[in-house]
Amino acid sequence: MKSNNNLEDINGLDPENWEEMRELGHQMIDDMISFLKNIHLEPSWKEIPKDTKAYFKEDLPVEPQNSKKVYQDFKRYILPYHKGNIHPRFFAWVQGSGTLMGAYSEMLAAVMNPNVTIGEHAAMYVDEQVVKWCKQMLNYPNSSSGILLSGGSMANITGLTVARNAHSNLIREHGIQKNSKKLVVYCSEETHSCITKAAEIIGIGNKFVRKIKTNSEYEMDCDKLLEQLLLDIKEGLQPFCIVATTGTVNTGAIDPLEDIYNICKKYNLWLHIDGAYGALAKLDPNIAPKLKYIELADSVAFDLHKWLHVPYELGCLLVKDADTHRSTFAITPNYLLQTGRGLAGGLDAINNYGFELSRSFKALKVWMSLKETGIKKHAQLISKNNEQAKYLESKILKSNELEILAPVTMSIVCFRYFNKKLSMEKINKLNEEIIIQLQEKGIASPSSTILNDKYCIRVCIVNHKTKKEDLDFLISGVIQLGSEILKNNF
Ligand SMILES: *Cc1c(COP(=O)(O)O)cnc(C)c1O
Repeated sequence: MKSNNNLEDINGLDPENWEEMRELGHQMIDDMISFLKNIHLEPSWKEIPKDTKAYFKEDLPVEPQNSKKVYQDFKRYILPYHKGNIHPRFFAWVQGSGTLMGAYSEMLAAVMNPNVTIGEHAAMYVDEQVVKWCKQMLNYPNSSSGILLSGGSMANITGLTVARNAHSNLIREHGIQKNSKKLVVYCSEETHSCITKAAEIIGIGNKFVRKIKTNSEYEMDCDKLLEQLLLDIKEGLQPFCIVATTGTVNTGAIDPLEDIYNICKKYNLWLHIDGAYGALAKLDPNIAPKLKYIELADSVAFDLHKWLHVPYELGCLLVKDADTHRSTFAITPNYLLQTGRGLAGGLDAINNYGFELSRSFKALKVWMSLKETGIKKHAQLISKNNEQAKYLESKILKSNELEILAPVTMSIVCFRYFNKKLSMEKINKLNEEIIIQLQEKGIASPSSTILNDKYCIRVCIVNHKTKKEDLDFLISGVIQLGSEILKNNF
């Protein structure tokens, strides 16, 4: 009892000095505004010094430290070594650039700190409204269901789980205990690895993920798809789903949606779209016709932390048949019963539509960002990135030193520095070295990929800060580094 009395004397986690914390908060906002405002003057990336890495080895803090000191440590050891996707010359992987309003809304959401899965409180209605806006962005039916998730990977596994159950409840009920007929899912060899991972986790098994060959444009070859499908049916397997990608990570290719849709209809298969990167290109009038069939898909996964620049993390899954979606995940234990009135009233619990129970107020950053910007401007920014990719392509085509390695469909450009006199192996090594030096010198941050054994400089423009000059700077950097490295007896 005695120690309990002592513990009663300990304050909670509210500030001991509210005014000091107010000042610190103002300081943080000031610093962050200056940081973002001037980021274009900084290198696109910086190496982390050894002593900084050593600092991260410190053990668990036991005693309290001054809040200001904690913030100083953040500014000294963490902030300068950002990944770079907040910089105008970040072109690696597929990553959004974030916004200041997005950052503010993260703070507001954290202050309210609701667990947004159940209950009668405003965040539930914001979440519902944002899901509705997601449908409207893609012109997906309003009667569909949807859930906000941490990203495209989660949206894809959630969608595939619904697709699996829509086909049969066998795995749901018996797990892997019952030797059922084998389920098969189809995608292209360019499909994101999260589809294979998802198939492994939900009990399909990676041997039953058919990675269909692509054509010269890196799109799924539908003749080959049909061939494989018929073979699997003949062998007594159970095809249940085709995953079409709208915007592959490697090259931005869009699988032929109409053909895939028709095959799904004919053979009663679930059409799932992985639009993590490219579904929102539906907002670009030049790309929209190619993406029309997203509206007819059974489910679509896409990211808002990519081309909508909402701060990490935010993905969304939409499912045409809301009942099938709900019945995949709805289990209501006694401690989660909903009532007609009071705090446990309100909207249908969100964990009836996904695996996660605790959920952040992630909807707020979408809600505030969309209100602040409006979808019209977002559409223009997406079109602008696609146009910038075409601009980059045209510069590469005009250059004697550079070579385009894949068709430019959306905002990804794959190319390389080329010199006829060098062996394939040397050229690959050279381009790898060019990318590393571009990054180390802070010139720009493209990433790499390999297409037909050719090492590519891969530039993905999902960046609201990028200007044409940044692309000019990148290209002159590549050409200069290429010739320099060659001169130095590479
Ligand atoms: C980014 C991406 C994913 C994975 O999404 P995360 O948000 O990173 O989990 C899946 N598929 C494609 C095509 C992507 O571009």
